[in-house]
Amino acid sequence: MMYFKKMVFLLASSIVMGLTAQVNSFTPSNIIGGMGKKLSIVGKGFGTSQSNSYVSFFQESGQYSDANTSKSFKYLSWSDTKIELEMPIAFSGKLKVNVNGTDYYSVDTLHVMANLGYRSANPLVYDYLTNNNKRGGYTWYIHTTYWNNPLAKKAIEDVFAEFRCKTGANYILAPFPSSANISLSDTIHLIGPDPSLGAVGYNERMWTSCILGAETFYSISAQGLRMSDKQDWYFGTGKAPAGKTKFRYVLYHELGHSLGLGHVNELGQSMYPSVTLLPSDQWSQRDSITSQEKEAISHLINLSKTFSFRACGVLPMENYKDCKDVYGLKTGIETTQSIGSLTVYPNPVNSELNINYPISERVQVRIFDLQGRLVLNTSFISQEINITGLNAGIYSLLLTDGSTILRTNFIKN
Ligand SMILES: [Zn+2]
Repeated sequence: MMYFKKMVFLLASSIVMGLTAQVNSFTPSNIIGGMGKKLSIVGKGFGTSQSNSYVSFFQESGQYSDANTSKSFKYLSWSDTKIELEMPIAFSGKLKVNVNGTDYYSVDTLHVMANLGYRSANPLVYDYLTNNNKRGGYTWYIHTTYWNNPLAKKAIEDVFAEFRCKTGANYILAPFPSSANISLSDTIHLIGPDPSLGAVGYNERMWTSCILGAETFYSISAQGLRMSDKQDWYFGTGKAPAGKTKFRYVLYHELGHSLGLGHVNELGQSMYPSVTLLPSDQWSQRDSITSQEKEAISHLINLSKTFSFRACGVLPMENYKDCKDVYGLKTGIETTQSIGSLTVYPNPVNSELNINYPISERVQVRIFDLQGRLVLNTSFISQEINITGLNAGIYSLLLTDGSTILRTNFIKN
């Protein structure tokens, strides 16, 4: 009898060994997708080499990544008991190993805390952020509707400071509003209300590419950030009163997209797809981005500041002087400022612009175009400034005298 039992046991175990793979565990259990982080999967029966097998992840679509996509991930090693690969973009869920056409699922859930969007997972290719405004990064305009609402303006300033200080993103705000229609915002970065938006908020990004030799470099050229004007907005911090939508939280989500983040299905993250009511109501009182959002965005910003590609006028994003200086107005020595208005004439002007202010070597005059690019920078040594070199259009003039900053707009014919 003893002999017989032993035979049965050996037979059964050889069937298990021969036909069944098993996903036992993986590390880490919390991860960021799209950043090239290593995921190690331990189990058995994976096969001695990858061949036609692959690892598949649950996606925002509600499906697992298909065979072609899954095979295009970057595999670092494959053995019968261990698989290592770079973590692609995914939603949290059980991971799946397909061995020669048969699916094997993990028991545990892999938690994807943030996703950094890419064009290609292997090798990793992103849409980079650049020195678009020739002042180190991107200039965003606040629509007049929000500019004239002190609570809305303050909310935008605070949220920009949060992203600048936590991630190094060189996003600045233009020191004057724009009344441009949000639907025509393709050439400037604009935050404004949208009367026809179906969603609560929406970030649109335009990219451009430049080819040099074998390399195609992709970068962001313009963005819009639409906020529904059908919402009853709450512009303050902390918990939104019942029935209101927290403006700052929606901005965290949309600016997260603008800095490369995709959605996640992890509760508590700003990039959870829904931004009003449940479940985000349970964490939207938080007035900060999460540590994983900070890590993923910082990674893209670092790459955007250090890439070596040089063609088509593309330059890397630069560091700012002071992360809280959301208008990018400070020089190295300025510490405080006030913004007042200034009189210039004639307006519209053809060639000589007169500025009504006492002449001084230490006073600086800077003129910006509608994209926020610095087009003229001079000491104020004459009340008459020659602007014949500027194209026809609307400009903003900033006069800086120590801690006092005065501004006005003018039209060049
Ligand atoms: Zn979203």
